[in-house]
Amino acid sequence: MFEPVLVLNANFEPINVCNIRRAIGLILSGKANLVLNGRGEIKTVSITYPRPSVIRLERMVRRPRPRIRLTKREILRRDDYTCQYCGQRSPYLTVDHVRPRRLGGQHSWDNLVAACPSCNHRKGGRTLEQAQMRLFRPPSEPPTSARYMFARHLNENTEWVPYIEGW
Ligand SMILES: [Zn+2]
Repeated sequence: MFEPVLVLNANFEPINVCNIRRAIGLILSGKANLVLNGRGEIKTVSITYPRPSVIRLERMVRRPRPRIRLTKREILRRDDYTCQYCGQRSPYLTVDHVRPRRLGGQHSWDNLVAACPSCNHRKGGRTLEQAQMRLFRPPSEPPTSARYMFARHLNENTEWVPYIEGW
């Protein structure tokens, strides 16, 4: 009951992921309709229902353009789990302020990068120039494309791809 279901807005824009229990609740209450079946069926005492994989809301939900939350996890994901100083790919990465906070560096997408512990230690509280280190690429806010936002679900839900592409 906790497998993900892709929720499309009335204009087919992918906006959310919910679980099957919630998806069926939305369908049965007439707030959403089934767009794509998943595998198998849901059986309850009273009904047997196809397992939804993609649903679409009946009414348009207005909402601001989503933004990726600035968290360590999202910074590491943006940087593809790769130290931006030495290029090492690792599950053990820290987040480095490119311009140190004590020198006025912001806690923002364009001042934070994934760094392995030894590069982070080597750089210390210095600027790039002072430490004579270089970045692989200048950091920036990640795209809010649907493909980026829902990337972690796409390996297991390849049938979502046509609903995600282009948004
Ligand atoms: Zn490194």
